[in-house]
Amino acid sequence: MAIQVHMFPCLSDNYGFLVHEPSTGMTATIDTPEAAAIDAALAARGWKLTHIFNTHHHFDHAGGNAALKAKWGCTVVGAANDAERIPGIDVRVQDGDRVALGAAAATVLEVPGHTSGHIAYYFADDGIVFVGDTLFALGCGRLFEGTPTQMWGSLQKLMALPDATVVYCAHEYTQSNAAFALSVEPGNPALVARAEDVARRRAANQPTVPTTIGLEKQTNPFLRATSAELQAVVGLPGAGPVEVFAETRRRKDHF
Ligand code: ZN
Ligand code: FE
Repeated sequence: MAIQVHMFPCLSDNYGFLVHEPSTGMTATIDTPEAAAIDAALAARGWKLTHIFNTHHHFDHAGGNAALKAKWGCTVVGAANDAERIPGIDVRVQDGDRVALGAAAATVLEVPGHTSGHIAYYFADDGIVFVGDTLFALGCGRLFEGTPTQMWGSLQKLMALPDATVVYCAHEYTQSNAAFALSVEPGNPALVARAEDVARRRAANQPTVPTTIGLEKQTNPFLRATSAELQAVVGLPGAGPVEVFAETRRRKDHF
């Protein structure tokens, strides 16, 4: 049976996500940005928390683990190779592992770069992926613990998912990401149109998440290292994708 996703704002610019599997009633929170907001979302739906699926160790993703586990006795799932930094971890997973939520299941994708132990959860049957801080709408996570080569590999792994895959990223950063994207690929008509759509949505206080893999491939500069315009703007015409990605990321850090 198809999963149900409930998305809600947390902290200043995070999103919280509840994933509910109706045939068993099992419910996971993707990360724990804010225990109180997650509890309120559960109460509003009448759902009971059975699992925490952590993408990475940062406080705005795992900071509510202890409080939620204490209250609900839920099972905490996180990356095996980052287990010491995931509070309360019960189930240690690695690339390719299948994580069940009642009758539904996610495949674990290791996507290092933002942190060394970052993972994504891909619900293939539902065409949905939770990417944490690896891929954002029109952006990507900062390279706090990984190399450009690692992050490019992680982004390629996500780009290999079907174009229709729905992407839930963990922050509402899209409008500022759009400004940077336009600065490096001003001649991309799909990007120009999307930036207008993003501005409209934000003016109406609407979210720009989720996005899709296909839309990101058309408009996200961090997935577009082969774009001739992007290569020219960052001063690397004809360069390889890792080099172009690294320079694009470096420029965004200083934008
Ligand atoms: Zn993070
Ligand atoms: Fe974050």
